[in-house]
Amino acid sequence: MVVLLGAPGVGKGTQAQKLMAYLGEPQISTGDMLRAESRGGTVLGRHASAYMRRGELVPDGLILEMVRARLEAPDARNGVIFDGFPRTLAQAEGLDRILKQLQRKLDAVLSIEVPMRLLIERLSARRSCATCGAVFNQLLDPEAAKRHRCPKGQTVIVQRDDDKPETVERRLKVYTVQTEPLKDYYRRSGLLSEISGEGSVDEVFDRLIHALAGAGSDFHQDTRRN
Ligand code: AMP
Repeated sequence: MVVLLGAPGVGKGTQAQKLMAYLGEPQISTGDMLRAESRGGTVLGRHASAYMRRGELVPDGLILEMVRARLEAPDARNGVIFDGFPRTLAQAEGLDRILKQLQRKLDAVLSIEVPMRLLIERLSARRSCATCGAVFNQLLDPEAAKRHRCPKGQTVIVQRDDDKPETVERRLKVYTVQTEPLKDYYRRSGLLSEISGEGSVDEVFDRLIHALAGAGSDFHQDTRRN
């Protein structure tokens, strides 16, 4: 079970997708789950979207409840890749409690590091499918700059409300104040590896795999699928 930490825009989602294929474990992105709830117009979705539009964090209790339910799903039994969770100390402690109850544990916490000025550029260049939420970065993928419709469903590609400049700034600040302290929390438990997120997607992925292999346990050898 792996946690991917890192500010918005470091590429956690992209790397989580690659890790999912590599380890054969599902990605749990609380941001994607909340956006799906919001698109579905559920009570949780309506409540969460007010926070999301402002670039603020959704209350810990709601997030922990959603994650607990997801961890109990059959496909999550052999391990998961957390992307965008935990984001506060209370969530990290809550996750520890849930994992203890389920008699499971984290294998590694990988923090992807990218300088702040690059993050602002990357987030401003990010566009998403209005239906499925797939992300296209105009800066990292020149083809994406020419694309106006999602290749999966032909829905129009838009800029997410929370990728607009004023909200990007708020999200980065929220990360520094509320999420970055988690690095110390996981450093103390010996689980943390910090990885540079600069360079190509494949270069960053190689670093992640390397860090996982060095994370000690035989988890890496046992679980990878290819
Ligand atoms: P993301 O796509 O991970 O950047 O998440 C988008 C937005 O969803 C965030 O700015 C928060 O408003 C909300 N969100 C996602 N994950 C969490 C979380 N673990 N805790 C609180 N809010 C979250």
